Amino acid sequence: MKLDAKALRYMSTEDFRVLTAIEIGSRNHDIVPAPLIAQLSRLRSGGINKFITDLIKRKLIASESSSKYVGYKLVYAGYDYLALKTLSKRGSVASVGNQIGVGKESDIFVIAGDNEEQAVLKLHRLGRLSFRNVKNKRDYFRPDQSPSWMYMSRLSAMKEYAFMQVLHQHGFPVPKPIDQNRHCIVMELLDAHPLRQIEKIGEPGKLYSELMDLIVRLAKHGLIHGDFNEFNILIRDDGSPILIDFPQMVSTSHANAEFYFNRDVDCIRTFFKRRFGYESVLYPKFALDANKEFDLDVQVAASGFTKKEQTQLEAFMESEQVGDSNTTPHSHDEEEDEDLPSDEEIVYADDNDNDGSEDDRETGRANEDDASDSDDDDCDIEYDRLGNTIRRKRA
Ligand code: ADP
Ligand code: MG
Repeated sequence: MKLDAKALRYMSTEDFRVLTAIEIGSRNHDIVPAPLIAQLSRLRSGGINKFITDLIKRKLIASESSSKYVGYKLVYAGYDYLALKTLSKRGSVASVGNQIGVGKESDIFVIAGDNEEQAVLKLHRLGRLSFRNVKNKRDYFRPDQSPSWMYMSRLSAMKEYAFMQVLHQHGFPVPKPIDQNRHCIVMELLDAHPLRQIEKIGEPGKLYSELMDLIVRLAKHGLIHGDFNEFNILIRDDGSPILIDFPQMVSTSHANAEFYFNRDVDCIRTFFKRRFGYESVLYPKFALDANKEFDLDVQVAASGFTKKEQTQLEAFMESEQVGDSNTTPHSHDEEEDEDLPSDEEIVYADDNDNDGSEDDRETGRANEDDASDSDDDDCDIEYDRLGNTIRRKRA
């Protein structure tokens, strides 16, 4: 997807107010009706049509009709615009350069901030995939609120930023986080190439050990990357690895932690065998090597990315098979799944009175006892380290 930085320059105050009004309106309306836009933008009803038409022409919003009324929605370009506007006000983005990556779930650009230093802008785009399986995961969301691409992409960016900050503070080899807004993060531009592009290396054993050590070090800090593979490991010219792309990170206390840990380990083993013909009998095992000594998972949980948001994002990602490991054929062997509880056996708690919108965050409404008013008679309740409530159906 193109990112039209020029659009930033040609936006009047009124255009911006209308766009913002549609964003606010979408917190509780899938399609925002014109009278609400007029009210939220504090512009005269008669006057807003001109701005709406203009925003549609510039493909920042789209009109759509429900059975009851015609209204408007933000499209990605409009959401990009709002995020860029905020990031540029803060000085983190002054100009947008070349696109360097198009992921399944993101667009990546080189940008420069007010300090003229180059950096990377990653725009999370979760809804680019269809929302095909979300129906089965409706329980995580209020019935009147569909899990929009906007909401899920924002959660994904918030999660990645929260993890990047904590990992960076603790000396892990990750990009330096610079800023985050809506579905966007700004981070250090790395002078490094994805492992996937590297055909030959001098000492595969050395890199192999470094990567396995990294998996173990993360686990000792309470974390599993969850998508640890040749796409998400960048290699500097001196051969050292850097880890990117964290929206799937889970705590080592997660119900499926062992599965995710083994999948990360297997991705590296398989890749090294296939690409470099390198095999080792030594590789980390969850039971032996993942003993937690530090609490980074808890620190992330304390960083403002709430347990409810974590649960919603996880449910969405599982249903949509987000992530490289979920689609690469070598991701895991079928038989490894056997010990794992199936989707039907794990029931995550849903929050009935909290739609997770920004309004809740702003008013500081907490939701501590997710499962309190639901029927728990046939479930065992556990909490993982991120505070997610996990209700496991009794056999
Ligand atoms: P996705 O979630 O779409 O997989 P990633 O975060 O893995 O996105 O990034 C996709 C690609 O963009 C990477 O493989 C890498 O080539 C490039 N990239 C991402 N972040 C950086 C960065 N900080 N510096 C340099 N290149 C990056
Ligand atoms: Mg990636």
